[in-house]
Amino acid sequence: MRHLDDLMPLSRRALGSALSLAAGSGIPPLAVDATAGNGHDTLFLAGAVGEKGYVWTFDVQETALAATRKRLADNAPELLSRVSLVHAGHETAATHLPAATAGHLRAVTFNLGYLPGGDKRLVTRAATTLEALAFFAAALGCGGVISVHAYLGHEGGEEEGGEVARWFADLPWETWRVAEYAFRNKQWNRETLFLAEKLKIW
Ligand code: SAH
Repeated sequence: MRHLDDLMPLSRRALGSALSLAAGSGIPPLAVDATAGNGHDTLFLAGAVGEKGYVWTFDVQETALAATRKRLADNAPELLSRVSLVHAGHETAATHLPAATAGHLRAVTFNLGYLPGGDKRLVTRAATTLEALAFFAAALGCGGVISVHAYLGHEGGEEEGGEVARWFADLPWETWRVAEYAFRNKQWNRETLFLAEKLKIW
């Protein structure tokens, strides 16, 4: 047994907590996977949103969406009906999410970089990542969580991670908490997890 959490379980605990609190308060648990990739996060979110919830999943690669659909079909086909697979960049989310979701998203997750085994040219990029973050930060309900897992090792990764870090640093303390987690001694494939919570103002 290890005593320090890896980044993925940390992210899932925060996202899952925001979704189950919403469900328990009668608020529709609405979630977004901004980067479908191989579908691991979509499968997690589709379970975590529960029966009353819904997940929108974005990817620019048809192969990523096909892998995600297959992961759902193989592992939990009953969850397919609460997931929309959107073949578009997350920066276009405003045109794909129903207008009624504005201000009501509870959990949004990004897994940056490129799809392992996929087309490495279709990597996430700082400009579009920040555009999507700005949209989702506004569309998040109070008590919602945004998780961004950034990889720094590939070309452009350091720049993207730095821009994401600066963008999060500017969110006001009165209405947001932003944490950054990383293993200080990881020398290769360096990665950083940003977790941001939009505060409930009582
Ligand atoms: N680095 C992670 C996997 C990241 S997968 C790991 O090692 O596990 C990132 C996914 O984001 C890829 O499937 C890619 O196609 C997708 N992507 C790239 N640009 C995007 C965009 N603008 N909008 C949505 N998805 C995008």
